[in-house]
Amino acid sequence: MEDIIQLLPDHIANQIAAGEVIQRPASVVKELMENAIDAGATHIHLIIKEAGKEAIQVIDNGKGMSPSDARMCFEKHATSKIKSIDDLFSIHTMGFRGEALASIAAVAQVEMRTCTHDAEVGTHITIENSSVVTQEPCQAIKGTNISVKNLFFNIPARKNFLKTNSAEFRHILDEFIRIAMAHPHIAFQLTNNQTLVYNVINGKLHQRIVALLGNNYESKLVPVSEETDIVKIHGYIATPDMASKRKGNQYFFVNNRFIKSPYLNHAVSSAFKDLIPKDEFPSFFLFIDLDPARIDINVHPTKQEIKFDDDKIVYSFVSAAVKHALGKYAITPTLDFSLHAPTENLDALRLPFTEQKKEQTKQDFIFQSFTEKGKAHFLDKKEDIRNWKELYKIQNEFQLQSELLDANTQKENSNVLPFEDSFKEELIQVSNSFILATTRHGCLFIDQHQAHIRILYDRYVQYMQAPMVVQPLAIPVSFELSAADTALMQEIVPTLHSFGYHVEHFGGDTFVIQALPTHITQGGEIEALVSLLDDIKQDINESSAIQKEKIILNLAKMDAIKHGEQLKHENIQQLFTELFQCEQPTLSPTGKKIFVKLNFQDIEKLFFR
Ligand code: ADP
Ligand code: MG
Repeated sequence: MEDIIQLLPDHIANQIAAGEVIQRPASVVKELMENAIDAGATHIHLIIKEAGKEAIQVIDNGKGMSPSDARMCFEKHATSKIKSIDDLFSIHTMGFRGEALASIAAVAQVEMRTCTHDAEVGTHITIENSSVVTQEPCQAIKGTNISVKNLFFNIPARKNFLKTNSAEFRHILDEFIRIAMAHPHIAFQLTNNQTLVYNVINGKLHQRIVALLGNNYESKLVPVSEETDIVKIHGYIATPDMASKRKGNQYFFVNNRFIKSPYLNHAVSSAFKDLIPKDEFPSFFLFIDLDPARIDINVHPTKQEIKFDDDKIVYSFVSAAVKHALGKYAITPTLDFSLHAPTENLDALRLPFTEQKKEQTKQDFIFQSFTEKGKAHFLDKKEDIRNWKELYKIQNEFQLQSELLDANTQKENSNVLPFEDSFKEELIQVSNSFILATTRHGCLFIDQHQAHIRILYDRYVQYMQAPMVVQPLAIPVSFELSAADTALMQEIVPTLHSFGYHVEHFGGDTFVIQALPTHITQGGEIEALVSLLDDIKQDINESSAIQKEKIILNLAKMDAIKHGEQLKHENIQQLFTELFQCEQPTLSPTGKKIFVKLNFQDIEKLFFR
């Protein structure tokens, strides 16, 4: 038999190799934009014609290339970013394999003008089917201007495989948004068929998110920020009301590279559990930074998939960070019930903002993190709000919360509890567990336990700055722990101390409670401390901030009024008043519902169904 094996000609081999990197116009967009970023550009303009099928152009003001680099960069394995094999194992160079431009040149007509910052003239080069057609000096404009035309002109099968223009353009937009999101300090423009679609100036991450995804995110972004020795996270989650049935805006970046990870998405969703309906997805923009050595890079870079050496640590870290953010600044669905008429007329709500109060409001975290220039005006305009109704109409939830805070301030100033009188008659304890409050449009059932957890939690967070009043125990109580728990308890003793729990290590495995905060009655504290240890043990890798958070949460839970506890009328009133002075009266720090609202319509339905 004759020999039948032959080597593929270079240009065909190149085209096959290119198929891996360049699947569609959006792949070209990604590679060219990433190159511009790597070149240190501060301004990048992407110009698209016919969804990139006709032309994709990227103009940057980066460092440019010398004449010989301009030719070299289209060679296979040509890169300035990898010097040794070790570089391959670092996430920072992941995806740099010197393949992109070579692949693009194998499947399109490429034209490039480039000039370094110190050169007198630039280089103009055209390439087709992997070979240089022309190369000549050109006018010196600093940076690189590269055009990729007629993608897949030499592979009709691939070209036919492309989707409709609107589908391909959607892919391009996705890439553009991901890249622009990860680089808020760089200005980007996107022009599609001569129309300027995006023009985003450099700024902060939250400004970038709003610029890319729309003004409806403006006051809906909750900052996330946590750090441990091995992993850091920062970014934003959107408030639960921004969740949608489509898996819309879910962005994870690992070491600033966009990645897709159903596993991490789940970590975020789990933190949102109970806050959004089961069939909806939260929006988030989260940046995880970790040691490259902890990332398994055996995954193909263009697939945007990633595997962590230790999945579980990253999962619980992400979930805890999101929970923490939700709990701390937690974000309420609007308080969409109207308050009782007398309440609406309370001084606290009728009186105008004083200069001092306005300052206080502005100091408020929520305001600081979400107010842009325009928002301060909004605040000014509210000065003569006279009652709840008006207030309610024009405010989004954050501003509403701030008004509630403002009511607190009023209370401190004049010792008038804003809700007390108005609800004297209407508050009733039901089954020693719930508080029934009538409102104008129906009623509320408030879970006394969850409500009290919220109140105490908020109070303890503040105690972190101020010392607590403690009551020494007449007879100190001692308890013993296992060896492992002993070590952990020793670790948290100082924190407990700062919350008024004076626990001392007696020696061996024995501890003694010397004093408790004055506001709690003795009993059950040993069990509570043991369950606190259990909770912390769940995730020993957590940052000390998260640990502290857990301690606060556990203390709030154990100190809170329980179900089945009968309350005196004044305590019911106090609970109610204090609950609605919280920034987040709707949800407990763990995301549990604090009250259920029944409108008259809801009540009517119960009868006529
Ligand atoms: P890689 O990015 O993996 O190094 P590419 O094929 O994308 O491989 O690019 C090859 C090389 O060409 C880069 O390493 C860089 O030195 C140079 N290069 C590509 N695009 C630009 C650009 N816009 N500005 C400056 N240099 C560039
Ligand atoms: Mg590249």
